[in-house]
Amino acid sequence: MKNIAILGSTGSIGTQTLSIVDEKNDLNVVALSCGKNISLIEQQARKYKPELVCVSEESDAKDLAIKLKDLNIKVVSGMDGLIEVATIPSSDILVTAIVGMIGLRPTIAAIQAKKDIALANKETLVTAGHLIMPMAKEYGVSILPVDSEHSAIFQSLQGSKGANIEKILLTASGGPFRGKTYEELENVTVEDALKHPNWSMGKKITIDSATMVNKGLEVMEARWLFDVPISRIQVTVHPQSILHSAVEFEDGAIIGQMGTPDMRLPILYALYYPYRQPLSGDKLDLFDIGTLEFLKPDFETFFGLQLAFEAMNAGGNVPTVFNAANEKAVAMFLDKKISFLQIPETIASCMAEIDYIKNPSLEEILQTEQATYEFIKTTL
Ligand code: NDP
Repeated sequence: MKNIAILGSTGSIGTQTLSIVDEKNDLNVVALSCGKNISLIEQQARKYKPELVCVSEESDAKDLAIKLKDLNIKVVSGMDGLIEVATIPSSDILVTAIVGMIGLRPTIAAIQAKKDIALANKETLVTAGHLIMPMAKEYGVSILPVDSEHSAIFQSLQGSKGANIEKILLTASGGPFRGKTYEELENVTVEDALKHPNWSMGKKITIDSATMVNKGLEVMEARWLFDVPISRIQVTVHPQSILHSAVEFEDGAIIGQMGTPDMRLPILYALYYPYRQPLSGDKLDLFDIGTLEFLKPDFETFFGLQLAFEAMNAGGNVPTVFNAANEKAVAMFLDKKISFLQIPETIASCMAEIDYIKNPSLEEILQTEQATYEFIKTTL
């Protein structure tokens, strides 16, 4: 039996993780967390009977505790609560399915408590990869990628011990606006941007896919997970989303992982690594697919992707500025306060203005996040 704790159990990755728990008889849920979706987490708590549940607000925690008083479940709230979920003694693995930099402190706490991490929360590695990867090594914990591309790379690396990576081929669907010009993106709406052609995901990552900022975040994530310089990471637009990513080795062999666009597979692989398990659902039929295309990304139209490379090359706290500016700008776009193209513009102006810190500590990363939010508040 494997005991799992989930940060963000009410979201897209969280609910798909629980659907895997439903399919298997050797996974046990010991802790759950959400932000504000109290009705769903109450249902989840009744179904999975964890020891611990965390919600964002203290007042919601009090209400939920009353609703769950017939069950022996502790209800907590806020950052302390997230850390309690992340470090609960009975868990073997933590699924970080929470969105945004709020995942940073709990993930670090989980590593220090020697919990393996099934990592979906890419913002953690983007902003603090230089702290997290050495820490994981020091505490002997595994960081198992859940992002489909990184899982594909991880799967492609199995059995290649000692081989040098020539290149990582990080595939990208190109999102709903693939093939459009910069000018054509001027008036796109929130509804247009939320129509992802292949994947069904949370709102924030869906907008990140439309701007291709998501691919930029994934380049940074891959750099830390696989310890490769970004000059060896090539973004390859692949509209069908069938090849989930690949690795080119120094002998010229390219090993990749293909499958239907279904996040349950990378989640399953992370939960059971190094074993493969059966999974329900449609399997890939190559005759149905017929043709796979691979195209160069358009760095001019998708300026956010270009900025991600610049942020990574600059290093220090610049990836944090990039990420925090994007988080705020996406939230403002979803609230219809700024236009689609103002998302990369906001990132660019924050990258130009926020003070550079070469090797930021956790505190400095969090200060950089606040400084970025403050800058946006006073300038937009
Ligand atoms: P969702 O928006 O669907 O879910 C986010 C989860 O985090 C929800 O449970 C939400 O709770 C919780 N949450 C949000 N804000 C807070 C907060 N301030 N405090 C506590 N909990 C909070 O996101 P996704 O599942 O799409 O994405 C999760 C992470 O996984 C992201 O980092 C994303 O980049 C990554 N990822 C997602 C993929 C996907 O297919 N969805 C693919 C690869 C990576 P509530 O429901 O109450 O708001």
